[in-house]
Amino acid sequence: MPSTWDRFSQRMAELRDLAGAIGILTWDQETFMPKRGVAARSEQLGTLQAIAHERLTAPELGELLEKLAANKKLSGPQHAMVRSVRFDRQRAVKIPGKLVRELAERQSHAVEAWKEAREKKAFGIFSPHLDKLLAIRREMADAYGVPKGGERYDALLDGYEEGMRVKRLAPLFERLKGWLVPLVQALADAPPPRDDFLKRRYDPDKQWLFSLEILDAMGFDLDRGRQDRSAHPFTMGVDPDDVRLTIRIFEELPLSAIFSTIHEAGHGLYEQGLPREHRRTALCAAPSMGLHESQSRLWENLVGRSMPFWESFLPQMRVHFPEALANVRLRDFYAAVNRVERSPIRVEADEVTYNLHILLRFDLELAMLREELDVTDLPGVWNERMSKDLGVKPKNDGEGVLQDIHWAWGELGYFPTYTIGNLYAASLYDAAKRSIPGLEEHIRQGRLATLLAWLREKVHTPGRLLPAEEVVRSATGKGLDDGDFKAYLEGKYGTLYGVKV
Ligand code: MG
Repeated sequence: MPSTWDRFSQRMAELRDLAGAIGILTWDQETFMPKRGVAARSEQLGTLQAIAHERLTAPELGELLEKLAANKKLSGPQHAMVRSVRFDRQRAVKIPGKLVRELAERQSHAVEAWKEAREKKAFGIFSPHLDKLLAIRREMADAYGVPKGGERYDALLDGYEEGMRVKRLAPLFERLKGWLVPLVQALADAPPPRDDFLKRRYDPDKQWLFSLEILDAMGFDLDRGRQDRSAHPFTMGVDPDDVRLTIRIFEELPLSAIFSTIHEAGHGLYEQGLPREHRRTALCAAPSMGLHESQSRLWENLVGRSMPFWESFLPQMRVHFPEALANVRLRDFYAAVNRVERSPIRVEADEVTYNLHILLRFDLELAMLREELDVTDLPGVWNERMSKDLGVKPKNDGEGVLQDIHWAWGELGYFPTYTIGNLYAASLYDAAKRSIPGLEEHIRQGRLATLLAWLREKVHTPGRLLPAEEVVRSATGKGLDDGDFKAYLEGKYGTLYGVKV
């Protein structure tokens, strides 16, 4: 008879296999699936998700977990596996099947309504759906259970950023806003750098070739992953040996492909660097969405928008686009990729204004969950906050409250992980610079491997062995904080814009 541990590992492996299959079908849906395949695909995904849910909530797994949790002889990694699966399982069993089905059904209607509302720029089409989703998510938060000393929002946040609490985030975000708003004002009022050369024609095939060169330099292994095109760039990690990236290419917006490549490759390198010896276990995963995002943002912004990076890559880019980049100086190119603008759209925001978009969403979803803000008042409050924080007023709901899909999916508590990622990224990069002598010189020579090796050791290899903040703390000596991010932005943009901050 197999031991308790063997029976548990078998079940854990099956759960990972199911998640992998769901991932591949989802990736295929966004990349190669013919349009009319959507009905069959929804059924396949629905079936697999139901099986995965059944397996995770099966009473036998619960019994195995209780037995193993009481076993003092487990190794550190074994203990972490039991802890992780137990965490996921306890969340899953708390939600009655009826509520899961109701959410799934509401989501698909809400997404359809959201698409129509966004197209017609009419929030009224979407608001009744959001109202219902909110009611379901409140019910789910109560079912998960409010953590001690916490509130409903925490119960949802826990699903993306385990252990993080409003009590920690709210004051940190307030402080962040306190120095970001004046910084944006100072920069957006300064004369903007020229970027006319970024609006020229850049051959899409050559953009694709250049993106592959960037992937290669970053150390993304194309024998253990691939890159394709999709409407919205994303990364799907199925296994350290099978990681799928997607990017998008616009002929007259060359930065879109470049930065989606660097961003998604940052996610992809993390996935390829997860502990292979723990394949098909709960440890071969990131401990939080924020830590995952820290890897994409570190590469995209701290590396990809730095002068050393472009010292190496602009000459390479010029080989592909000699005409578009004729007479463009390194300095001008660097300034153009770091242009700070008051834009109403989050996904187009630069790294200075970006977090203001997130802080606004955090405050509003928190108020909605607390039942302090009525859905019908959302557009007004949104627009007011945009003017106050960012100095820009959305022209309509389409470029305002309706711009993101997250709420239509019923995802509440997800947005803060973007800012957590940005803050972790700044601290990790600062620590990398301190630990790797001559790091910027390496980057200037296009040698990105030393940085990757450091990230592998400090961030990727632990997988889900430790909580996200512990991973960051052991790499940097500190937990979640805005100090390094502040020093980074003020140093970089003060110099670039020649303003005193
Ligand atoms: Mg990302």
